[in-house]
Amino acid sequence: MPISKLTNLKSTYDSVIIGSGLGGLTCANMLARQGHKVLLLEHHFQLGGLATWFTRPNGHIFDVSLHGFPYGMIKSCRRYWNKEIKNRIVQLKGIRFVNPQYQLESTFTREHFTELLENHFKIPRKNIDGFFETIFNMNYYEDNTQTTGELFEKYFPNRNDVHRFLLEPITYANGSTLEDLALTYGIVFSNFMSKGVYTFQGGTDKMIALMAEEIQRNGGTICTNTKVDKIEIENKKVQGVSVTYKNQQIFIPAKSVVSNAGLVNTIFDLTDKEHFKQDWICQAKKIRVNSSSSQVYFGIKKGESFPFLGDLVFTSKAETFTTDELFDFNTTSQTFSIYYPECRADNSKYENHYAVVSSLNARYEDWVNLSKDDYAIAKENLIKRASSDLEKFIPGIVEKSDWIEAATPKTFKRYTLHRGGSSFGTKFEGLEYSRNLHKQVAGLFHVGSVGIIMSGWLGAMNYGAIVCNDADAYLRK
Ligand SMILES: Cc1cc2nc3c(=O)[nH]c(=O)nc-3n(C[C@H](O)[C@H](O)[C@H](O)COP(=O)(O)OP(=O)(O)OC[C@H]3O[C@@H](n4cnc5c(N)ncnc54)[C@H](O)[C@@H]3O)c2cc1C
Repeated sequence: MPISKLTNLKSTYDSVIIGSGLGGLTCANMLARQGHKVLLLEHHFQLGGLATWFTRPNGHIFDVSLHGFPYGMIKSCRRYWNKEIKNRIVQLKGIRFVNPQYQLESTFTREHFTELLENHFKIPRKNIDGFFETIFNMNYYEDNTQTTGELFEKYFPNRNDVHRFLLEPITYANGSTLEDLALTYGIVFSNFMSKGVYTFQGGTDKMIALMAEEIQRNGGTICTNTKVDKIEIENKKVQGVSVTYKNQQIFIPAKSVVSNAGLVNTIFDLTDKEHFKQDWICQAKKIRVNSSSSQVYFGIKKGESFPFLGDLVFTSKAETFTTDELFDFNTTSQTFSIYYPECRADNSKYENHYAVVSSLNARYEDWVNLSKDDYAIAKENLIKRASSDLEKFIPGIVEKSDWIEAATPKTFKRYTLHRGGSSFGTKFEGLEYSRNLHKQVAGLFHVGSVGIIMSGWLGAMNYGAIVCNDADAYLRK
């Protein structure tokens, strides 16, 4: 995938996209497809943002956020990308839950959840149907103040085990809590419930390479290792962006700028506040960024293997469920994503490659102020906890592995530059600011994880298409 050098640029662009997360990539592709001159600038040496991977010695490759997404990705990849990308989306076979309240396996569909709620949890059918009717009919445009905790209490009063069963996987998927709006939970959960959980055959590296090819085929230009320092604005209208390249400040003129750089960074770091109405910027200061993550990666030695034990295992030692426990520095809850050789079956480089990734919710504040020594100890503890929990599912996992390492909220911050190393953009209130940014500064748009609803692989990608329509309308005006 030849990436352009900043020196080979056109004199001006219709749209500069800052950042190559799934929102930025999708928006860039759709704009390029519509004939606009598009330049995509990414600060990292690799495209994909949080949809990323990394390689390690002894032939290891690790996917960071390829754990599972809803069936809707098939339609979105067909519409916004191409058939080759769409055809690689396959269903996960086994999703397990192991905690002191229950041990279950599920296809993660409405039918199977209904069966488990009725037969295992002994919930009356009318409550189950009422719950599903409510979440499937949730509408973003309705004025809804009910929280997820209140929604659960309505249909499953005093059933902490059921609340855990319904929310825990979604907290890993988008950081939502019992206190967040039920709407944000309902929209994401019902997306998953429609047909189960899916993954990308070939790994994140393959998907991002295919996406980059598609953008270039549509005439878009991509530059990596290029950090945008500032969005240039005059008379409340976008003029272009400034980047530092080889110690030189370069101005790139553009009619519009779509920032995938995180909403809070876009408003407060990349633009001068004087361009926004004062009351708008005061309110924008209240936007809360979402939580971050920690991970532990296990690379299995060549020649070693283990039998199929599921694709996703949600585990916890907590006797009862609270969302606070899920985010706690010493949480006993984590999700294991297990990667079998089939994941990269058509890539001979990773023949018979097994890997396991443990993901935990985390708070940036808990990690950022640790001393160097305490940080190293905390990372070691993460590894120890993940190893001992994984041992129950894969005996001898540590001996079978020849690469184990951990990532923390600081790691996510370093690679994406997001405030607080946010894994899932902002809380709900951010959505309104993202949608209305162009009303403050003509030609300036935000794309990417925001408002919980527009996050995750599917949410970010779909939002990319929505923002493309806004930018396209502006450019044609
Ligand atoms: C550990 C983890 C597990 C996850 N698991 C799942 C999952 O299983 N399923 C799922 O659907 N979602 C999952 N997600 C969430 C999902 O990965 C994200 O919601 C989605 O990929 C975010 O896309 P985005 O468009 O918001 O951009 P991001 O991925 O946030 O990318 C933003 C990009 O902008 C770039 N950038 C920032 N500032 C600048 C600048 N000034 N100049 C140039 N470039 C800049 C960054 O380098 C980055 O590449 C997970 C996330 C994490 C962290």
